[in-house]
Amino acid sequence: MNMVNTSEQLLDIDSIRKDFPILHREINGKPLVYFDNAATSQTPRQVIDCIVDYYENKNANIHRGVHSLSQIATDAYESAREKVRAHFNAKHGHEIIMTSGTTHSINLVANGYASILKPEDEILVSAMEHHSNIVPWQMLCQKTGSKLKVIPMSEKGELVMEAYKDLLNEHTKLVFVNHVSNALGTINPIKEIIDLAHQVNAKVLIDGAQSAPHLKADVQALDVDYYTVSAHKICGPTGVGMLYGKEELLNMLPPYQGGGEMIDEVTFEETTYAGLPHKFEAGTPNISGGIAFGAALDYMNAIGFDTIAAYEMQLLIYATEEIEKIDGVRIYGTTPEHKTAVLSFNIEGLHPYDIGTLLDKMGIAVRTGHHCAQPIMDFYKIPGTVRASFSFYNSKAEIDSFITALKKAKSMLL
Ligand code: PLP
Repeated sequence: MNMVNTSEQLLDIDSIRKDFPILHREINGKPLVYFDNAATSQTPRQVIDCIVDYYENKNANIHRGVHSLSQIATDAYESAREKVRAHFNAKHGHEIIMTSGTTHSINLVANGYASILKPEDEILVSAMEHHSNIVPWQMLCQKTGSKLKVIPMSEKGELVMEAYKDLLNEHTKLVFVNHVSNALGTINPIKEIIDLAHQVNAKVLIDGAQSAPHLKADVQALDVDYYTVSAHKICGPTGVGMLYGKEELLNMLPPYQGGGEMIDEVTFEETTYAGLPHKFEAGTPNISGGIAFGAALDYMNAIGFDTIAAYEMQLLIYATEEIEKIDGVRIYGTTPEHKTAVLSFNIEGLHPYDIGTLLDKMGIAVRTGHHCAQPIMDFYKIPGTVRASFSFYNSKAEIDSFITALKKAKSMLL
C-alpha cells in the first residue's frame, strides 16, 4: 500500500484513488495524470452517487410543493445548505446564498453595490486576481463613477502589504482579494487584509475559489464580510457554489435577479421581496448540484483538511525539488510554505502551450496560458505559464511521470 505519513495522520492514497473513477482512464493511450485541479477538481464516486440518487429517488422542485417528494427534495437541499454553513462556520444558514459558483457570487455583490457606491468612493482589488474578481468591479465602477485601485504584488508573487496600507483611506469602501491565487498558489494574509480594511470601515470580499480545496476558512474568525466558493473546485459538481455574507450586509443589498422564489408578495403595482437567503435565489436552483455540494464537503471532511494540506505540501515540495533539477525551468510565485499545491512555471526558450500540448500527448493534463489572470502575466512580461496543480488524490508516482514527460517534451522541442 502506498501510504504517505503526514505530521499526524496517514493518507491511504491507493484507497482514495479508488473513489475517483476518472483517475483510472487513459488519455492518448497513457494513464491519465490529472494535474489541472486548480481549474476543476475530479469527482468521487460518493458525489456521483449522490447526484444519481437525487434523480432516481428525490427529483422534485423545492420550497413550493405540498407533496412529499417536494418536501424530500427541499429537506435534502436545505440540509446541504446547513453542511455548507457548518463547514465555513457561518453564524446563520440564511447567510449562505446558493449560487452557480464564484463568478455568480461576485457579480451578485457587485450588482448590489451599484446603488450604494458614489463617485468619490474607492475600491481596492489585488494585482493577483482572477478575471472574475476584476471585471465585475470594473463594471461597477463604470456604473457608479467610483475608482478602482490596485494593491501591487512583488516579484515573489506576494501582495505588498505596505502599499496596501498606503492605499487604504476614508474613501475606501470595498476591498477584493483572493484567499489563494489561482495562477501562483500564493496564500494571501487575508486576516490582516480584513482587519486593516475594517479600520477604515471598508467591507471585504474574499474570493475563496482556490482556498476551499486546500484549507478550511472560518468566516466568523476571519470576520470577513463576503466569502465566495465554487463547488467544482472541491470535488463537487459544476454550476453550484456559495456566497457567504454577513446578515446585515446581505439585508442591505438589493436582489440580483427577479423571479419566482425571491418574492414575498407580487402585484402589478408593487412587489415585496422574501427574506434571506431566498431574496437572492430567484428561480429553480441547481438542486442536485446543491445537494452534491454538501456530499462533496462530507467527503473531504471525512479525510480531513489538515491531512489534505499536509499531504499536498509533501507533493508540492517533492515536485518543486524535482522540477528545479531541469535546466531552464523558472517557477513563478513564492516558496512552498506560502502557497497551495501549485507549480506555475516556464522553460526557457519554450512556449507554455507547446509544453502543455506535448504533455497531453503523454497523458498529462496541465493548464497552459494566462489562467484568467492576465495582469499577473503582464507583471512578469510573459504570455503565460504551465500550471501543474495537485490534489490530495494525486500521487508521488504521478509526479515522477510528469517530470519524465517534461524532460522528454523539452528534448523534443529544443
Ligand atoms: N476566482 C478564482 C481564484 C478562480 O480560480 C476561479 C476559477 O478558476 C474563479 C474565481 C471563478 O470560478 P467559477 O468559474 O467557478 O465561477
